[in-house]
Amino acid sequence: MKLQLLHEYFGYTSFREGQQGAVDALLSGKDVLAVMPTGAGKSICYQLPALMMNGISIVISPLISLMKDQVESLRQSGIPAAFINSTMNLEEYHIVMQGARHGEYKLIYVAPERLLTESFLRFAVNNEISMITVDEAHCVSQWGQDFRQSYLDISKFVKMLPVRPVIGAFTATATKQVRQDIINFLDLDEPTEITTGFDRKNLYFGVKTPKDKSKELLSLLKKYIGRSGIIYCLSRKLVEQVCDELCNAGLSATRYHAGLSSEERAANQEDFLYDRSNIMVATNAFGMGIDKSNVSFVIHYNMPKDIESYYQEAGRAGRDGEPAECILFYSGRDVRTNQFLIEQSRENADAQDTALIESLIAKSKERLKSMTFYCTAVECQRNYMLRYFGENPAPFCGNCSGCLGNTEKKDITIEAMKIISCVYRGHQNGYHLSRTKTAQVLTGSTQKAIIEMRLDKLSTYGIMSDYSVTDVVQMIDSMIASGDLGTKIFKEYSELVITSGSAAVIRKEKRVEMRVSKKEKIDNAYENVSAEEEELFQRLRKLREKLAMKEHVPPYVVFSNAALRDMCRRKPQNIQELMSVSGVGMMRSQKYGREFVDEIQKFLKRKM
Ligand code: ADP
Ligand code: ZN
Repeated sequence: MKLQLLHEYFGYTSFREGQQGAVDALLSGKDVLAVMPTGAGKSICYQLPALMMNGISIVISPLISLMKDQVESLRQSGIPAAFINSTMNLEEYHIVMQGARHGEYKLIYVAPERLLTESFLRFAVNNEISMITVDEAHCVSQWGQDFRQSYLDISKFVKMLPVRPVIGAFTATATKQVRQDIINFLDLDEPTEITTGFDRKNLYFGVKTPKDKSKELLSLLKKYIGRSGIIYCLSRKLVEQVCDELCNAGLSATRYHAGLSSEERAANQEDFLYDRSNIMVATNAFGMGIDKSNVSFVIHYNMPKDIESYYQEAGRAGRDGEPAECILFYSGRDVRTNQFLIEQSRENADAQDTALIESLIAKSKERLKSMTFYCTAVECQRNYMLRYFGENPAPFCGNCSGCLGNTEKKDITIEAMKIISCVYRGHQNGYHLSRTKTAQVLTGSTQKAIIEMRLDKLSTYGIMSDYSVTDVVQMIDSMIASGDLGTKIFKEYSELVITSGSAAVIRKEKRVEMRVSKKEKIDNAYENVSAEEEELFQRLRKLREKLAMKEHVPPYVVFSNAALRDMCRRKPQNIQELMSVSGVGMMRSQKYGREFVDEIQKFLKRKM
């Protein structure tokens, strides 16, 4: 029965990890707390039981944009659903409430602020509410990153109902503290706890240390032509700059950051969701509540502030389960920018409690350090991150730049000694040298400033003349990351300083290594798609776009990329065969099946 409905409505033949457990518990009336990473398939866990229960299920979600998509997607699957939030006018609201009273919907999505309003309460008290689902349940906890006051109303709301419905709480935030808060504040009754692993096997994780980020980006994007992706930058300014560069290069890119008007943000976001723009260049303000399943790559133009943020942002790739790539561009400057941002948070903090602020800042710095190690350590990237999240993963995953050896270790002990002695000599002679100045001295730059400052008189001047300034700066960055050099703010810039690590290097007690990119061995998650399949895929994608436009829904609501890929592999000849494609349920195949089957036939004939 469950499996039959799973296939009929959602087009899937089996459950993913964790789903069946959640479905069974909810159906038997047991509360559920499910911790599953983005893309694991939380929605099915409550949508399927909702379908099978007698009354109405209320889904509480803080994300208005997500509600609309989810409801749309449910309707496309043939499941009657509606949402109630602040984007609708009074008339629309009354229409939905009337439908709800007449039992027209199986699921109603609602923002938490609505729960205690008079009209919604009246409705809830007078109708059969079988289940309450709390999406993004970590919002109830002050330990979580997105605490929402209104989430505390949920348990009040539940207490007002004549019969207590079963409650399912869902989140991707794993810490123990947050889990406990969810159980306490939502008043869960000995919930069945479901935690699936955090690994996202279809994601490739790569770190690059490009000398020229904008050049590297353009060459990487060549590989991604025709696919959707997000590029995250640390600052608004950089978003503007990168987006301009991409547009100038003829790529279809748009932008998103908090400095834009809300109209422009909404319009750009929609362009991206509807595949009118392929690339979204954004700050971390973008992405909360974006349910776009066909994001094939997420590039971080800068290193983010911690692994939590990175995993969440990168995790927006490949939600449809198709191979996707997450690439991080690392440079030492990103470390300093993040350090600066952390220091700034001290000034912006409005709390009185200085001890608390200092401890928060210290924690931020620790997290930044872990993030930096992710970028500079020479090992399996996936292993590193999963260990960070408290798992015990295999030492090699075979699907990251660490494992696939796109980077290699290089011994730079000799170079490091030269760099350290240059910093040391500089200090002795009363200089405060920045990274660049140090590199210029070492490479023997003849720049006017160098000569004027008489830096060419230092004994270390020109001892690395076979390297470029950029090369040396990269080495310095890597040494800062590993603690073999330090930085200190001097006037407006940061100067290099000697650390205990430097001393150990000079005493020959420590070898210095850095990670360098191997000469272009391209990362390739898409490799095993044949040219023929790719051609068909692009045709089906066009068809999907056309149909989506007609229906005024985002393309991935019609069919996911994963479904299109599976069609390309199976090449169904008729509707019956189309039903065996993953992600194709009854409703969608009736609605769109004919046109997709025809398109595939046309493609096959053309080949003969
Ligand atoms: P989450 O809310 O956990 O981030 P979603 O519920 O949005 O994840 O699901 C992510 C993707 O996985 C969706 O495209 C969904 O259709 C797909 N999916 C969910 N369950 C299954 C399943 N049992 N088999 C195949 N695909 C699934
Ligand atoms: Zn790996």
